[in-house]
Amino acid sequence: MPTTALLAPLDRVTAFLDQVHGSFIDGQTVTGANDLFEVLDPATAQPISRTHLADGATVDRCVAAARAAFDSGSWSRLRPADRERILLRFADLVEQHGEELAQLETLEQGKSIHIARAIEVGGSVEYMRYMAGWATKLEGQTLDVSIPVPAGARYNAYTRREAVGVVAGIVPWNFPLMIALWKVMPALAAGNSIIIKPADETPLTVLRVAALAIEAGIPAGVFNVLIGRGAEAGAALVAHPGVNKVSFTGSTAVGKQVGMAALQNMTRFSLELGGKNPMLLLDDADLEKAVGGALMGGLLNQGQVCAAASRFFVPRRLHAAFLEALSAAVGGMTLGAGLDPNAQINPLVSRKQQRSVLDHLQQARQQGAKVTVGGAAPDLPGFFVQPTVLEVNAEMSVAQEEVFGPVLSVLAYDDLDEALRQINASRYGLTASIWSNDLSRTLDLIPRIEAGTVWVNSHVPVDPNLPFGGYKQSGIGREFGRGAVEAFTELKSVCIAY
Ligand code: NAD
Repeated sequence: MPTTALLAPLDRVTAFLDQVHGSFIDGQTVTGANDLFEVLDPATAQPISRTHLADGATVDRCVAAARAAFDSGSWSRLRPADRERILLRFADLVEQHGEELAQLETLEQGKSIHIARAIEVGGSVEYMRYMAGWATKLEGQTLDVSIPVPAGARYNAYTRREAVGVVAGIVPWNFPLMIALWKVMPALAAGNSIIIKPADETPLTVLRVAALAIEAGIPAGVFNVLIGRGAEAGAALVAHPGVNKVSFTGSTAVGKQVGMAALQNMTRFSLELGGKNPMLLLDDADLEKAVGGALMGGLLNQGQVCAAASRFFVPRRLHAAFLEALSAAVGGMTLGAGLDPNAQINPLVSRKQQRSVLDHLQQARQQGAKVTVGGAAPDLPGFFVQPTVLEVNAEMSVAQEEVFGPVLSVLAYDDLDEALRQINASRYGLTASIWSNDLSRTLDLIPRIEAGTVWVNSHVPVDPNLPFGGYKQSGIGREFGRGAVEAFTELKSVCIAY
């Protein structure tokens, strides 16, 4: 059921959309004679803004600006307490501009204004303040060493953390502002310069926050934004010898290319990739809570969440009741634009993503999946797909491949060990959840699940202090927490004879 009453964008949102944008390098917008790219509103499929795309010379210029800013020491050698203070001011500015950023995000990405406010902006501001604090808390160790030469020599040894240099942060389109800040904040807390390359579809909010970073006092050239296509500007950035570290979030297929390109220069890299995340109900699961968890964990941002629950393992005894309750809840959801405060399901980000999800659904049907609700594109102008529940088995492609859309695949199981085998048979290992109040069985299962995060009786919450990342082909490295900051540093050992 579509709805229609839309929130009117703020005047400054409209004014920002009316500008012609380009890469943001050394505190300046770089346009030039290169291609213009139209940013579309996923709810209408109509253009809302335009950006210039970077060519090879712009990529070189961007890396040179980030390098010059790093070498100048204006940020990298600033007192840690001053870096922290400026990063906290940056967080305050993002909070003050929260409504503007949330509306821009909804307009370019399609997501609900409620999610844009609460997660993309609200969650980011908390993350920013958490990461700002790490600027003053990096530390090394003093170490006892036993070096026997020359006879009688004594040594003092310690380690220190040093900024790695110029960081390239490559970001997907599903949470463009939040995931950019997941990279910007720890990189800057550690004293680096950074270049963010957003996805083609969603360049706007990160451009706006880069301008706010200058307003906060972050020196020009320390936080740059490169606007360009992945296979061109993105690939050139990753392969650039002036880049010291690549932090990539996106698909597993592109992540492999990025890792291989980075290795050519021994550029450090970390990868946050895709997932096919299970939600495992035990036979004592609270069905009502599990259905609520499936809606939140599976349909947040239309399922365009790397951590989203997308395959639901349900004991045979509960299967029919779970499927019925989930299908009823999903079938009652309201579709509409992200700026419609009453809409519960919003458009996908692009025509390409809409087609990809519909192709997965067609293949699922061909392989025998039963559609209990949804399964098609509604008659709306934007890139919508109806929220869908499928009854599947573990062999079907839809139970194995990342769909990245509003598609929930439900499987019945008779034997818990067999369900666990199917869960771990995936090439992915990002997240999982267990739904039970049986503490002993749950604690027994947690170490047996191959996933970077296991939730119990919830699915999808993240916290800045809790490491996040994947096993297997879901990635290399972890974001959040101390490890995220340390991943933007080199470890130097110092050994002093005295
Ligand atoms: P994608 O891999 O197509 O693109 C990600 C980014 O890489 C974009 O900025 C794109 O322009 C760029 N890119 C594309 N080709 C490139 C190349 N050859 N070299 C360098 N950069 C290149 O992913 P997407 O479609 O934007 O996002 C969806 C994917 O991201 C899903 O698989 C999802 O699971 C994953 N994701 C993972 C996490 C996580 O934390 N693990 C979070 C969000 C999204």
